[in-house]
Amino acid sequence: MKTLNDINFKGKKALVRVDFNVPLDKDFKVTDNTRILAAKPTIDKILMDGGSVILMSHLGRPKAKEDKYSLRHILPELEKVLGQKIKFVPDSIGKEVEETVKNLKPGEILLLENLRFYPEEKKGDKDFAKALADLGADYYINDAFGTAHRAHASTAVIAQYFDKDHKAAGKLLEKEVTSIQKALDKGQKPVTAIIGGAKVSSKIGVIENLLNKVDNLIIVGGMAYTFLKALGNKIGDSIVEDDKIDLAKKILAEAKAKGVNVILPVDLVIADRFSNEAHTKVVSADNIPDGWQGLDIGPKTRELIDDLIQNSKTIIWNGPAGVFEFAKFAKGTESIGLSIGKASEKGAYSLVGGGDSVAAVKKLGLTDKISYISTGGGALLEMLEGKKLPGIAALTE
Ligand code: AMP
Repeated sequence: MKTLNDINFKGKKALVRVDFNVPLDKDFKVTDNTRILAAKPTIDKILMDGGSVILMSHLGRPKAKEDKYSLRHILPELEKVLGQKIKFVPDSIGKEVEETVKNLKPGEILLLENLRFYPEEKKGDKDFAKALADLGADYYINDAFGTAHRAHASTAVIAQYFDKDHKAAGKLLEKEVTSIQKALDKGQKPVTAIIGGAKVSSKIGVIENLLNKVDNLIIVGGMAYTFLKALGNKIGDSIVEDDKIDLAKKILAEAKAKGVNVILPVDLVIADRFSNEAHTKVVSADNIPDGWQGLDIGPKTRELIDDLIQNSKTIIWNGPAGVFEFAKFAKGTESIGLSIGKASEKGAYSLVGGGDSVAAVKKLGLTDKISYISTGGGALLEMLEGKKLPGIAALTE
């Protein structure tokens, strides 16, 4: 896969797919500019070489051309982050865009309108992809890791209209791929993965792939109860996927055969209802009374996990340990974040990804301690599953 350092953009125009799917408040102000900041190194490199940049992205899930999803709303923030005026055209393809691209000078940046105003984008329509490819850019750069698992027109299909010397991964995409590989395939042992979240069903592929990669697999969050039940524990009214009990048994057997140490909660914070106002108590993980549900890991489990993390050289974390949205059940998730921060300071390589885990790490002020925080949700999960992402594959084909 070609990267930006392989290319000198002097006098060239680069069409860059970025992920500017940023949150906006009711006045259409950007409330979190992480994704814009993440695209900056790629834009800077092209401009520094003496090239010009055409930015394209999606924003939200518009059903048609809806002004509330117009990318013009992000212009003030984009101009602030990039420190220069940015041109904007209210379309993604067509005569006006082509004309503006033609007149674009070195050092200039043009932002196109929301790609998803065209339903063809998500359908991976070839004609739409070709129209984007024909706008007049010399290079196609994909820097949208967050959508690299989608075979959309601008994320994958477009790449076929550029030969392999005229398409490359942007700096963010490159960093994501190398950071994930560093943890997953080249991780120094012991490698420990902590996987949480609501359901086993959404992370089966991740768990199965991790069994080939890690020494310790810690399973927490809602999905742990399906495993606990599979082992014959009484889980009361905790969240469970009964149709995945056999699969949980199979995974545990597979882990044993592969010599992977699977760690499940040994104690839990249980609640008499799904609420931050619920009554709570701490019980051992094999004995949740009926009428009660487990909503977080308990103190012994937090300690057990901390111990494993401190003794790991590589740590991968995706998914919360409990219903962290309720302050009463956020301790487990926060404790995992703190443990990873501490281990990272001592030299472990840590990769954290997924909205909830990243939010926890940010809230705890640990962003600088974690070795790499992935910007991808679904894309990261598919990488952890060992899948080849269409947006990445298309750059090498
Ligand atoms: P996911 O999107 O699969 O990563 O799951 C995240 C969601 O799992 C969060 O909204 C948590 O509130 C939820 N969750 C974590 N632990 C539990 C639990 N013990 N019971 C119910 N939901 C949970």
